[in-house]
Amino acid sequence: MTTVLITHPAFLDHDTGEHHPERPDRMRAIDKALSSDIFSRLVRRDAPLRDDDRDYIALAHGPQHLANITDAIEHFEGPPKHIESDTVASAGTWEAARRAVGAGLDAVDLVMNGETGNVFCQVRPPGHHAESNRAMGFCFFNNIAIAAHYARAKYGAERVAVVDFDVHHGNGTQEIFWSDKDLFYGSTHQMPLYPGTGALRETGVGNIFNAPLRSGDGREPFEEAFRSRILAPLHDFSPDVLLISAGFDAHQRDPLAGLELVEDDFRWATEALAEVARRHAKGRIVSMLEGGYDLRGLALSVAAHVKALSDAAA
Ligand code: ZN
Repeated sequence: MTTVLITHPAFLDHDTGEHHPERPDRMRAIDKALSSDIFSRLVRRDAPLRDDDRDYIALAHGPQHLANITDAIEHFEGPPKHIESDTVASAGTWEAARRAVGAGLDAVDLVMNGETGNVFCQVRPPGHHAESNRAMGFCFFNNIAIAAHYARAKYGAERVAVVDFDVHHGNGTQEIFWSDKDLFYGSTHQMPLYPGTGALRETGVGNIFNAPLRSGDGREPFEEAFRSRILAPLHDFSPDVLLISAGFDAHQRDPLAGLELVEDDFRWATEALAEVARRHAKGRIVSMLEGGYDLRGLALSVAAHVKALSDAAA
């Protein structure tokens, strides 16, 4: 089986205005990196607009958030506008946000039906800061939490895990998963840093595993934290499907944070996660892009991540 790449040109039309770090050029940088010959075996699919996406958005967020976002951006006109302190919408945002959700839903279909081993969703806007009832931190809908709920509702997955190595804590995913023991959330992130959550003591119902790192930390503290605080409990949890919030802003080149990872660290983390998925989840991995704001650091890191996914799927 080969890795499937799900993306769509509509992600370029989510216009966040000038000088916003979460910008369309991120997609172009990844497109270029994944056009290399070494990715010629990737199966490429369009991120869909799905008729049923609202049902699953509402499962993760509740109907009120869906109604609020729909009212705010479905018929958006005029120049890009802040809907929250960091989160900007434009005329293309509604379609992009729905296709980002749709990518996750299709990816779950592919791995749960055994059509492929793993999938990388190259999407924007990202999702992991979106809480059950709040858009924030460049995120409208929590793409990965929606995918997790979908895996349970549609396929009867009993235990679903999200591992998040974005440099920021995924406060939204944590909040949505907080009191559900069959949903696992594990995160490495820099602390203190936006959004301020992610302390060790935040444990939900024993299903939340936070591994905060300090500015300046590089490979060794990252690997130690990832092994002991994420991989060990993830093995014990034994997920039916493993989802990855794949942010690459812990790269040393990234302008928004101070961790010192390099692309090879994302290769290592991906291989380690693929081993857990192989042992417990029939290899099923759905990885969804979150952050990563230095275009070169992002392109190199996504290439290392997708190469490790495709090696695991082969
Ligand atoms: Zn981030």
